[in-house]
Amino acid sequence: MPWLNIRGHDALVDNFRKLLEANRLPHAMLFVGPPSVGKTTFARAFAQGLLCEKHLPQELAPCGTCPGCKQVIAETHPDFLAVRRPEDKQALPVDSIRELCGKLSLKPMSGKFRIAVVEDADNLTDESANAFLKTLEEPGPGSVLILIGSTPDTQLETVVSRCQVVRFQPLSAEDIEAILIDRGLISQSTNARQLADQAEGSVARALALADNEYQDARSTVIHELVDSGAPLAPKVAKVIEDLAKNSSKEPATQRRRAILILEDLSRFFRDVLWSGAGLAPPSGDSAWAESAHKIAAYCSPEDVFAIADRCLLAITQIQYNANMPLALSAWASDVCRILNESRASARTR
Ligand SMILES: [Zn+2]
Repeated sequence: MPWLNIRGHDALVDNFRKLLEANRLPHAMLFVGPPSVGKTTFARAFAQGLLCEKHLPQELAPCGTCPGCKQVIAETHPDFLAVRRPEDKQALPVDSIRELCGKLSLKPMSGKFRIAVVEDADNLTDESANAFLKTLEEPGPGSVLILIGSTPDTQLETVVSRCQVVRFQPLSAEDIEAILIDRGLISQSTNARQLADQAEGSVARALALADNEYQDARSTVIHELVDSGAPLAPKVAKVIEDLAKNSSKEPATQRRRAILILEDLSRFFRDVLWSGAGLAPPSGDSAWAESAHKIAAYCSPEDVFAIADRCLLAITQIQYNANMPLALSAWASDVCRILNESRASARTR
């Protein structure tokens, strides 16, 4: 059985147990790795393990039922502090970081540890990141600071150099398959293994691929871009915008949905490059093969690169809370322009 049903990171748990046993748990850690592999879930379970009243911290075996465990889950434990970016903000506000650091400098109220988990550390401004420096240099007694980000590159060097970097690997296809089945996330008729194979280590991607509305939107966009002869930017942008808006009322969920399909499209264009070179496309997505082949027939590798880059730019803009309809519309207009020009110049060659 994986640790607390969190798959894929048992080696990290063993390592943490050894560090706790030796009384060498770092005061500050930066958890990095791809999205939705369980970094935040792991950090919260870890905090629960340290604050459980039934089991010793070094066991890292939170019971889930004692007051300590329950308070961590409910975020009411006096020694557990969680900070995340507010829905309507582009960055973690410096005030909430200062408040967190103030609390972290105090002695733990109930036990040996006081743990802070900072989600969205990629969205720290320089000012907020600098607010951490004193806490990183002079940690309070028993304080443990966990920052969660995507890579060390997105953090200030001054922060990274004072943190122990803990790397989370993408989940294996076996783990994703097991998560989909164990948690009842997909209908029984769905082929979990096939989804897991295409998910590139992310449960969120596997779930999107299992969703008919997502699949339809993705096919429509690829059809419009590749097969329509002259792609219409407003139509392409609208399909993605509608997909995002239908997924949830929450802007954060809508953004994630739009990002997922843009990531998928950048993978599609990667397939186009491989197809153009006469190689089997790396995504292994057979539904794409024909379209990738068609586009490779007229689109130069430079143009394909430019489109893939444009997808990445749109992803970054939406991640950083750009106005989603505007970002999508500018993206679609650039991609359609490149494709239409590429097609026209192929005709004159
Ligand atoms: Zn407990």
